[in-house]
Amino acid sequence: MNITIASGKGGTGKTTFSTSLSAYLSQHTTVALLDCDVEEPDANIFLKVPIERRYNVTVLTPEVDMAACTGCGRCQRACQYNAIVLIKSKPLVLPELCHSCGGCYLACSERAIHEIERTIGIVETGLQGNISYAGGILNIGEHMATPLIDEVKKEMHSANFRIIDSPPGSSCPVVHSMEGSDFIILVVESTPFGFHDAAIAYDVAQSLSIPCAVVVNNLIQNYEPLFSFIQKEDIPLLGIIPHDINIAKSVSEGNSIEYMLSHYKALFDSVSNYLSNKVIS
Ligand code: SF4
Ligand code: SF4
Repeated sequence: MNITIASGKGGTGKTTFSTSLSAYLSQHTTVALLDCDVEEPDANIFLKVPIERRYNVTVLTPEVDMAACTGCGRCQRACQYNAIVLIKSKPLVLPELCHSCGGCYLACSERAIHEIERTIGIVETGLQGNISYAGGILNIGEHMATPLIDEVKKEMHSANFRIIDSPPGSSCPVVHSMEGSDFIILVVESTPFGFHDAAIAYDVAQSLSIPCAVVVNNLIQNYEPLFSFIQKEDIPLLGIIPHDINIAKSVSEGNSIEYMLSHYKALFDSVSNYLSNKVIS
């Protein structure tokens, strides 16, 4: 079963929840945590799975043979992403804007464009007991997160539960993280910002026709529009985690899994039962 943990906004405790849920489920079955938050991967700080394998992830980027180029500009016109600009009739490729669509390559009748591999980041994998881990690390300054996320999601298909830690937000990397999931858990703060961003993430999940549930985290007070929304949309509310300064403390000390499983066991019992029933049904 593929379960994406998403949040809309950052800082909601999504990774604390996803790593704790993975550790909880691994007491009884095989679990893979796939860290798709490739711009800020931190799940393995808490899981502490020894890394056994690392490999580069590359994308194809055009390179222009200036000797063959006539400066016609067809490549620039073919590029929908403004990743090729002509300066004094000489094409300049801006790799960080390139989406590797191959359009310029096809447009160049002079065959002056070749595709070369460009490394955008790495994938790390490891295994410890019932938990396997795969996470992407995007190169600093790199914008093409989605090919790296797609590579991470190719890993660990033998696990009974694959927990996908999504990036925050609701843009392409989040869509790629959610795609193919059987279920999505939104970790939401009961605040106006938390509700606003989670509602957008919920819309993304709806557009992909993936069922959703909610865990409310860091509850200081009930933000009524959030709870009305959950009720109106008939979204299962799997649990509520209150504001607890010791959670933040355990995160800063790297032992949040131990803290969460000892202090919020009932919550993870309940989420686990819910997911197990989903697998059966
Ligand atoms: S399409 Fe080919 S020949 Fe024309 S400007 Fe681009 S690289 Fe040069
Ligand atoms: S491969 Fe596609 S996105 Fe990249 S420069 Fe060529 S046309 Fe633009």
